[in-house]
Amino acid sequence: MTIYAGTIVDTPGDPFDGDPADALAETGAVCVREGVICARGTLDALRAEYPGEPVTRLPDGMLVPGFVDSHVHFPQIRAIGGLGMPLLDWLEQCALPEESKLASQAYAREVADEFLGGLLASGTTSALVFGSHFAAAMEELFCAAERTGLNITSGLVLSDRILRPDLLHTPRTALADSTDLIGRWHGRGQLRYAVTPRFSLSASNAMLDVCAQLLEGGVWFTSHVNENVAEVATVAGLFPGARHYLDTYLQHGLVTKRSVFAHNVHPTDAELAVLAEHGASVAHCPTSNCALGSGLFPLRRHVEHGVGIALGSDVGAGAGLFLPKEALQAYFIQQMLGAGGMSLTPVHLLYLATRAGALALGLDDRVGDFSVGKHFDAVWLRPAAGSTLAVNLKHARDTTDALARIFSLATPADVAGVWTRGVDRQGPSLSEAAR
Ligand SMILES: [Zn+2]
Repeated sequence: MTIYAGTIVDTPGDPFDGDPADALAETGAVCVREGVICARGTLDALRAEYPGEPVTRLPDGMLVPGFVDSHVHFPQIRAIGGLGMPLLDWLEQCALPEESKLASQAYAREVADEFLGGLLASGTTSALVFGSHFAAAMEELFCAAERTGLNITSGLVLSDRILRPDLLHTPRTALADSTDLIGRWHGRGQLRYAVTPRFSLSASNAMLDVCAQLLEGGVWFTSHVNENVAEVATVAGLFPGARHYLDTYLQHGLVTKRSVFAHNVHPTDAELAVLAEHGASVAHCPTSNCALGSGLFPLRRHVEHGVGIALGSDVGAGAGLFLPKEALQAYFIQQMLGAGGMSLTPVHLLYLATRAGALALGLDDRVGDFSVGKHFDAVWLRPAAGSTLAVNLKHARDTTDALARIFSLATPADVAGVWTRGVDRQGPSLSEAAR
């Protein structure tokens, strides 16, 4: 058992429902037994309740729940920074040539280690990971993820048309390879499987039928939708019978409570109604949307329709793995939308980077906040002495103001500790620093 003491902040409530301030909670200590939070309160109270138990002090900065990335591509960790192109050109020239290299299992192994190491270094403890087109590369990702202790949900990416030929499956090989991976990895430790057609642009009706068949095993589903206007128009041409882009998935039973759709920058009201009706979630990827010029995310319309939203880094189109940067960019986008936007408070930003992702991924019974009974998945943001963030935190008026300064200024260099299930995932150096 360990008591962690410091400035411990989370959002057990929903800031999109009522006064955002009511969604925020703060405590001075939590007590963790076998990786699970068994009590929260003041340090004095917890010491009295659990006398003699060791105390890990986290001086300075703030302890927040581990970040949840609801959309990130593991094969693109070496392809960040391809600026100056719209989506379909970027895919062809930047992302897909890199993804082809994962045909080599040795290459995939290196990339998987770099990717998971990057998540940890960014304070991300749970992620819905867009996988590789190659089954052997997925094996590498799951093996490496099991060693890290991160909550990873991922799956083989499926396409059977339009993309470069080396990335394509047939519906038959897609079914066989996916079934094999699900049997080995879904529900093993903190790992789960997500059926992952790249997007319906590159997936025929036969392939989407295979996806529906795979979903019967109780796994998750993720794909892209309504990212870019040229993409939306191409999909409309490929599916003349569909009412809209989302309908290409809906017709195959792929819009469910266990579905997470990335982007949705250009939805119709009908699509938002379908998402809400089926309880599916949207992964909003702000730096990616801006880098590719995809558009300004209509967050207010999602909220008004009751669609769950989480944040995704969308690396490699996104500008890095650090979720607070995505939260800040989400804030910027809403400011730029003026009256059509939704001004986000610091409490919204923390919620979007943590609990909103846990809800979208169906992990909210385990992670996303520090309620009693949840796993101790946490990130300690501790700015270097004399840094601009340290200066600003010293002058913060209250917790909400401190959060605003963290979301404005924090970088991965400020990640001083990361825990999943109560285990320090950054090694003994952290424990030394904390004592
Ligand atoms: Zn993506």
